[in-house]
Amino acid sequence: MTPEFRLIQRHFARPAPSAVLGVGDDAALLQPAPGMQLAVSSDMLVAGTHFFPDADPRKLGWKTLAVNISDLAAMGAQPRWATLAVALPQVDDAWLAAFADGLFKCAEMFDVELVGGDTTRGPLNLCVTIFGEVPAERALRRDGACAGDDIWLSGTLGSAALALACLQGRAVLDETDLAHCRRSLDTPQPRVALGLALRGLAHAAIDISDGLLADLGHILERSQCGAEIRFADLPTHPALAPMLDMPWARDCLLAGGDDYELCFTAPQARRDAIAAIGTRLGLPLTRIGRITGNPGLALLDTAGLPLASHKAGYDHFA
Ligand code: ADP
Ligand code: MG
Repeated sequence: MTPEFRLIQRHFARPAPSAVLGVGDDAALLQPAPGMQLAVSSDMLVAGTHFFPDADPRKLGWKTLAVNISDLAAMGAQPRWATLAVALPQVDDAWLAAFADGLFKCAEMFDVELVGGDTTRGPLNLCVTIFGEVPAERALRRDGACAGDDIWLSGTLGSAALALACLQGRAVLDETDLAHCRRSLDTPQPRVALGLALRGLAHAAIDISDGLLADLGHILERSQCGAEIRFADLPTHPALAPMLDMPWARDCLLAGGDDYELCFTAPQARRDAIAAIGTRLGLPLTRIGRITGNPGLALLDTAGLPLASHKAGYDHFA
């Protein structure tokens, strides 16, 4: 057995009973259920750009898959299968075992099976392609927002960006808060159950990976509408809330990446149904503003007046 194949066998070949054919052939064979469309998405994590090169491999394994699952959650799709393409600087079995452990823990939690991939030598780079199912015409797309819709957000924002600011020496937190915020940064929880529950209710959805303003901006662009956001209504993570008079902290809230919450729009008539979903899932769902017919994103203070504009979010090529 070649070292490459031994590595794949040892760390990544696990049974995939819901695939027609999993790891080991030239391609996997997948059969979506009748009436279902495939939702497919790829996300790449690059050492030095998306994570520190010395990051804990177990957490990295979780996050590599979790950020991909989050994209399917934002489509209202049920995640089913994934492939994993990795470039590794060297074969380090202890590192790979921990990485695979984190990845498969996330896979089990969200019912995803690894069905293939590619393994090569190179600067550490991790790329997952995820396949999910959604009934025809029921996906939550970015282009469905309508003027008058409420804008909703799950969970709280800012903790991952706050943890990163601490790790980079730009902010200081006590040990408990830092541990809490690091969990958001290292092991994000994709909102799959919420995405599924929002089918037929939400008009548009996106997951917050690059910051609220940037990601909501994508909905506005694709839906050709605008939005008003009430700054005081934003569900700020409690560790960040006391710091919001400082511009960098407002950036964590508005433009900090890696939150992986869902931002979605829905008709006002659906408020009760959406609140009931939040209760059922034990997940706070907060109305933060509304979609308007005027292009642009206005951030309003408590008096309803526009606040000065902010940094728009993370852009790799800015
Ligand atoms: P080929 O040379 O035909 O592309 P490979 O030798 O790259 O095949 O891969 C052999 C099998 O192992 C394939 O089924 C492939 O999908 C799977 N595989 C390779 N790398 C990984 C990985 N990192 N995780 C999961 N499966 C992998
Ligand atoms: Mg190959």
